[in-house]
Amino acid sequence: MRRLLSLVKKQRKVTGNKMKSYKLNDGRHIPVLGFGTWKAKDGEEAYQAVKAALEAGYRHIDTAAIYQNEESIGKAIKDSGIPRDELFVTTKLWNNRHTYEDAVNGLEESLHKLGLDYIDLYLIHWPNPVTHRENEAWKERNREVWRAMEDMQAKGKIRSIGVSNFLPHHLDALLESAKVLPAVNQIRLAPGVYQEEVVRYCRDKGILLEAWGPFGQGELFQNETVLTLAKQYDVTPAQLLLAWSLAEGFLPLPKSVTPERIASNLQCSAIALSPEDCDLLRKIPVEAGAPNPDTKDF
Ligand code: NDP
Repeated sequence: MRRLLSLVKKQRKVTGNKMKSYKLNDGRHIPVLGFGTWKAKDGEEAYQAVKAALEAGYRHIDTAAIYQNEESIGKAIKDSGIPRDELFVTTKLWNNRHTYEDAVNGLEESLHKLGLDYIDLYLIHWPNPVTHRENEAWKERNREVWRAMEDMQAKGKIRSIGVSNFLPHHLDALLESAKVLPAVNQIRLAPGVYQEEVVRYCRDKGILLEAWGPFGQGELFQNETVLTLAKQYDVTPAQLLLAWSLAEGFLPLPKSVTPERIASNLQCSAIALSPEDCDLLRKIPVEAGAPNPDTKDF
């Protein structure tokens, strides 16, 4: 049994062009795993992390204007020599750009920093910034920004458009005027942080759920259930957590700046968790919950 498992482990190495993809509701394909870059510092750290990720086989990179590392990521992409059409790059519009004109300018700035002609997936990062809460101004702000994103998509500057941290009532408001259905909603999702209502809503509408914080931002590496199951399946805790996310049909975005972790995290797609173990993981109690976008202080 042990020999068989180690053989499976060896075969798990996923290369970029072999990575599976999800089909989005707009017909495009997105690699099932993305490389997270929040807190990867602009400069050498973000550059080396993305370089290592691309060498290991990731083809999907997740960044955001607010991470302030788009330039280093763009440089790593350029230096990799990987053809543009083999890469999938996501970035996000921050809260200070919630008018039509600012959204267009925000996108242009991200394109410039990343050194790209188009973005594969562009997201509204946050549904309800603190500055737009009075009289529910966020509703009109999101509609306006979405219109800009639809227009930029029609012009070919963005391939797919989506949202992040949106709860059902934010999506309902957006869909009142949207011509294009969001392709994804990127939310905090991990064992123990299971936003059931949002998950159900997005599944019903065919909106793909991307999972940020798939390791509970590190917290889950101390969890007893995670450690016990990882041992049972003869995988690392990180691989187990990513396998869970994939088994749920989510798109996890593991972040690391450590080359060995970057490579080994990728080797999770062949791990088949039993439905009972998936259930066990879904229900584990964790301290950190998902942030409430309606009350968060930014
Ligand atoms: P993660 O759950 O990905 O956890 C990252 C932490 O796990 C880092 O400290 C990393 O350390 C550590 N780690 C990674 N792999 C291993 C391993 N194999 N063994 C031990 N430790 C490991 O948290 P994030 O918050 O970064 O979420 C992932 C991504 O999701 C972000 O980077 C970003 O792209 C996106 N995101 C989106 C948000 C949104 O609002 N839309 C909000 C937050 C994140 P180290 O780097 O030192 O190796």
